Amino acid sequence: MIHHFADRALRDAYRERASASVAKRAEECAADGRLDRESWQEMSDAGLWKLPVPVRWGGSGGTWWDFAAAFEGIAAGGRDLGFSLSLVAQAGLIRSILVYGTEEQKEFWLPPLTSGAVGATALTETTGGSDVTRIRTAAHPHQDGYLLDGHKDHITNGPAADIALILGRVPEHGDRDITLFLVDLHADGVSTGPVENMMGNRTSPTGPIALDQVRVDAHNIVGGIGGGIDAVYNTISLDRLLYGILAASYLDPLLTEILDYSRSRTAFNVPIADHQYVQGRITDAKFAVEATRWVSYGALDALLQDSPQTSLMCSVAKYHAGETLKLGTETALRVLGHRGYMEGPYAQALKDALGTVIAGGTAEMQRKNVFNQMRRLAPAR
Ligand SMILES: Cc1cc2nc3c(=O)[nH]c(=O)nc-3n(C[C@H](O)[C@H](O)[C@H](O)COP(=O)(O)OP(=O)(O)OC[C@H]3O[C@@H](n4cnc5c(N)ncnc54)[C@H](O)[C@@H]3O)c2cc1C
Repeated sequence: MIHHFADRALRDAYRERASASVAKRAEECAADGRLDRESWQEMSDAGLWKLPVPVRWGGSGGTWWDFAAAFEGIAAGGRDLGFSLSLVAQAGLIRSILVYGTEEQKEFWLPPLTSGAVGATALTETTGGSDVTRIRTAAHPHQDGYLLDGHKDHITNGPAADIALILGRVPEHGDRDITLFLVDLHADGVSTGPVENMMGNRTSPTGPIALDQVRVDAHNIVGGIGGGIDAVYNTISLDRLLYGILAASYLDPLLTEILDYSRSRTAFNVPIADHQYVQGRITDAKFAVEATRWVSYGALDALLQDSPQTSLMCSVAKYHAGETLKLGTETALRVLGHRGYMEGPYAQALKDALGTVIAGGTAEMQRKNVFNQMRRLAPAR
């Protein structure tokens, strides 16, 4: 049962904040291909990252529902998909530390992450992102810690981040050796960037993180040696459902805009809103938006209740997020006609949306996980 969703006051406050900051700077940051650190700091100062963190680690003692409400506000008010994708990357990192981190890790890493530092979660390597078990980044024991070597690619916030959760292996540990490391990206041996030249989401700088003999203390392993896959699936689950929440909140104002346009634009002597095919396009987008929003709330509820359905629900949310963003932005372009096809905010929204069928696990990988989860939840009789 969904206990609570989207605190309206919190959502409205962040919506206002984001429309006065993120939305104002989005175009300039997209042109420069950079993260809007100023807005990031403003959101942090407003207490965004403290929302889901217990008071004893410097948080405000709320829940991920509070974070979801604030995040909805930023997605709707900021109207910058890239900036919101950067937030998703950090949310997963914070949740990993909260769920799998030791007391010492929480005390050390949460204060910077809740007060303006930028985080990244680095799984993908040049050899591929879907099959994470093929990663080559490896840590070898050295004195009382490890030396980490590897190369991560396409990492959200990679070129701008201060802290990263890095998925690697500890070959000395044997077969089940996939492990998560918390790494200070300003440490010796780390190099980040350059920013990748993506077709969209340019306000969410994505790029490589190279690790050359980077010293990692043993106490900066999250979830134990060999515990990386379990911990990462939990992180990814939150990220996946946040994509769904993002899709719905980001598209809400866009649908309002095209509805307004359809009322004022006339063709064949009537507003185009009176043509049923136009209505059909807008309602199809609305069906998708509402289905995505509510399945994502269901997924968040499942995650927080530790339900056996969590992984399935989060993949359903992520699958719908990508498809809905694609449909919603394409609908805007169609309803606006040639105006929508001009280079500008609508064409950009479609290009940004396309990234979400790949980022956070491709649509095919969500299908694969959904089917695997269905099999797991209903074993053959
Ligand atoms: C905007 C953006 C941000 C990103 N941010 C991050 C980040 O922060 N951290 C991070 O680690 N990575 C990040 N990535 C990388 C992303 O996770 C990978 O691109 C994604 O997992 C796919 O990996 P790949 O590109 O190597 O494609 P591949 O894994 O090579 O897959 C290629 C194609 O084959 C399909 N495929 C592969 N295996 C199967 C299968 N078993 N069944 C069916 N189809 C299959 C895929 O669906 C895809 O269509 C980001 C990507 C984008 C676009």
